[in-house]
Amino acid sequence: MRVPLALATLATLAAASPAPAGEPPLPPLPPLPPLIDAHAHIGRFAGFDLALATLQKNLDRQGVRHAVISNLDGAALPGVTADLGELAINEETARVAKSDPRLVPLAWARPGAPGASAALLEPFLRDRGFRGIKFHPDFNHFSPDDAALVPYLELCRRYRVPAVFHCGLSLRSRARAIQRAARRFPTVPFVLYHMGFGTDHEEAIAVAREAKRDRDAIIFLESAQVDPASLLRAIAQVGADRVLFGTDATYFGRDHYATYRPLLAAARRALTQEDYRRLIHDNAALLFHLDGK
Ligand SMILES: [Zn+2]
Repeated sequence: MRVPLALATLATLAAASPAPAGEPPLPPLPPLPPLIDAHAHIGRFAGFDLALATLQKNLDRQGVRHAVISNLDGAALPGVTADLGELAINEETARVAKSDPRLVPLAWARPGAPGASAALLEPFLRDRGFRGIKFHPDFNHFSPDDAALVPYLELCRRYRVPAVFHCGLSLRSRARAIQRAARRFPTVPFVLYHMGFGTDHEEAIAVAREAKRDRDAIIFLESAQVDPASLLRAIAQVGADRVLFGTDATYFGRDHYATYRPLLAAARRALTQEDYRRLIHDNAALLFHLDGK
């Protein structure tokens, strides 16, 4: 596994610092692990380069260990996305993930759409190594508390995998709406992609903090399109054990990860090495069951 050079250098420097006089030397810090990107896509979205080759070149260049993928061809935005059915989109995700072990598949759900059903997605979780279900309330036109979601969330519960939500600013994708569903499934980890896309992130941070304090839901926040100050605020207020590094790859195209270098640098400066590891690797490895993959 390649570790990004700048990070490897920082880890080496930290490990090499001499102990103050009279104190026993600290054991060397373990090297930083490679990144896990908790939010990436395959499929098509008009105006964006989401080609598989673009994603793979970005993973190569950045030395990313795993990228968690879902297929945007399931989004129902005629003229912008392919708007395909659950079987076709998730078969494609399975095929792509099988071809590159760095790619970790999520099932894309279309609750309430004609022909869609949790029963159709179950084999992907049971037999084919999918590590969660992705929900997009805006692109697929549902609310997180619609009855149609219940069987899908039951699957997450049964297979002990996260329910991953696009979290935005509309009534149906905002953090408070997702929180209501999360409270009904208190053993299922819910991941709020973007921690409120297009918002100041305060609502998502509050929701994750309340869930941790009240223990009535399990809510993780994710960093795609989030500014460094908001990411650090989220970690300070909720804890580094509830925040995942993710990027919405390859939203920013051919040099996608360049956009996230300031965010990673800010986190590396502000956090302990242990918390930084949680953010970029350990939380996602646990949540998506990636150790041993
Ligand atoms: Zn996304």
